[in-house]
Amino acid sequence: MLLIIGVLIAMGLAAFVATPLLVAEGAGGSTLPVDVTPLADLKRRRLVVYENLKDLEFEYQAGKIAAQDYQSLRENYLGEAAALMAASEEAEQLKETDALIEREIAARRALRKAPPPQDYVCPHCGFENPVPVKFCGECGTRITDRPR
Ligand SMILES: [Zn+2]
Repeated sequence: MLLIIGVLIAMGLAAFVATPLLVAEGAGGSTLPVDVTPLADLKRRRLVVYENLKDLEFEYQAGKIAAQDYQSLRENYLGEAAALMAASEEAEQLKETDALIEREIAARRALRKAPPPQDYVCPHCGFENPVPVKFCGECGTRITDRPR
């Protein structure tokens, strides 16, 4: 009896877990892949606009489209392409800004790690001791205890 109840619960759980997956699968086609970046998406949309432009050009050449329609459609596509181009340039710049900020932060961290120079540059002879020392390795002048 207990076993049967256990099996029933397990089946119920499995159905409960699987349902969203099945529903998502059934609705598929309209959903975008998760790993599409905004920049890649903009590029893809730009390609689509260029394809449409080429088609339009072709149809106009073939005499399937009136000159007036051709002109206005062309304007539309070009405007769309310009907007997408501006958007992806903006995204590109944001990416570059991020990289710049990361480099800046790394540089600041490196600076903070370095000990202050007065701990290893000799005030007497100017020798740069490789590590903070009490006495200059070159002339023997006391370094760390001098007033700052
Ligand atoms: Zn010295």
